[in-house]
Amino acid sequence: MDSININEASSKELLGYFQAKLDEEAWEAKKAGKPVCWSASVAPPEFCVAMDIALVYPETHAAGAGARKASMDLLEVADKKGYNIDICSYARTNLGYMELLKQEAMNGEKPELLKTTKAAYVPLPDIVITCNNICNTLLKWYENIAKELNIPCIIIDVPFNHSMPVARHCKEYIADQFRVAIKQLEEFTGRAFDYDKFTKVQEQTQRTVYWWNKIAAYAYRKPSPLNGFDLFNYMALIVCARSRDYGEITFHRFCDELEAKDKAGKYAFGDASTEKHRVTWEGIAVWTFLGATFKGLKAQGSVMTGSCYPGMWSLVYTPGDFESMAEAYTKVYINTCGSNRYEEFYKVVSNSKSDGMVMHLNRSCKLMGLLNNEGGEYVNKKMGIPFVSFDGDQTDPRVFSEAQYLNRVQALSEMMDAQA
Ligand code: SF4
Repeated sequence: MDSININEASSKELLGYFQAKLDEEAWEAKKAGKPVCWSASVAPPEFCVAMDIALVYPETHAAGAGARKASMDLLEVADKKGYNIDICSYARTNLGYMELLKQEAMNGEKPELLKTTKAAYVPLPDIVITCNNICNTLLKWYENIAKELNIPCIIIDVPFNHSMPVARHCKEYIADQFRVAIKQLEEFTGRAFDYDKFTKVQEQTQRTVYWWNKIAAYAYRKPSPLNGFDLFNYMALIVCARSRDYGEITFHRFCDELEAKDKAGKYAFGDASTEKHRVTWEGIAVWTFLGATFKGLKAQGSVMTGSCYPGMWSLVYTPGDFESMAEAYTKVYINTCGSNRYEEFYKVVSNSKSDGMVMHLNRSCKLMGLLNNEGGEYVNKKMGIPFVSFDGDQTDPRVFSEAQYLNRVQALSEMMDAQA
């Protein structure tokens, strides 16, 4: 891994550097006989970081594989194992990858695909932690990993919020789940949990979340200095490093760059005249066609200025207060009733001053895709702005049609023109 000058590096350089560093740290831990944990993306990392356990994030790893056009090979390994295409492609990409790592561990040498894949090389876990605050797939997927590898599985069970605000008994229940997770980690490591260190880790998490939210707010300026697709690019660190200072350093630098850009009259696509439309993107990015989906909007002069998806990591709570942390980890917008979810979506569309909405009907992610159109109709009634949807998938390239996508975003542009 190349070293960089942290104080002088651009945010883009920091992003690449810290992503590679996280993988390297996981390998160092493995080689030193220390545990490596695979974690769900919105499971709390605070406990493992306080216990000095290296973390690897299968969803981010799969997204990276998708962006590097490496997911299809891994999906085919999962296909051969019998995993159905209706299962989330993050899970299938990861389970395909795990199969290659298992073969390497068994045979003492890398299978050919592991040598050639462009997916990042990460170690097998010694423990997994998952949380059903974004979907139930994450329970079965991680139970499956734990069963196949014969390792412990920590589950943070989070009830679905059928009404809002979050009920007191739900927060108490989740806080108890946290206490059980700590006990499991103490038993697993044979070490006592350090509550003082834990509070510091929580404080770090809050600083990272502050800067993450600040980036998204730059897109609320009109014209926007932020190209909203950069939220997808930088997302890896809010997922994988929110409890370390890596995310804070990178996001702070990015905010400084955006501030300077805005002052210099430079915006997402160039000067102010290049921002023809502003759109909210609803759903996960199509990682396998990230460039094509971005260019399709750019060709229409449409800047992405809003998205609920990056806001899933806006995990704001009071350090030292378990119930406050419990509330943050349960009120993730897709873990809430329709009425709350639509209102959250409306806030993003309206704060981002969007003229239209693009809905990703994601075959993998039923929970993200299912209520998209209802959310669009809700906002359409309140603001009168149009929306289109397209069929896709975050990491399975077989499910996305570029022609359909381009047709839909062109139609949206025409509808926005008609309303201007
Ligand atoms: S993409 Fe959707 S189904 Fe897959 S792990 Fe994430 S929330 Fe769950």
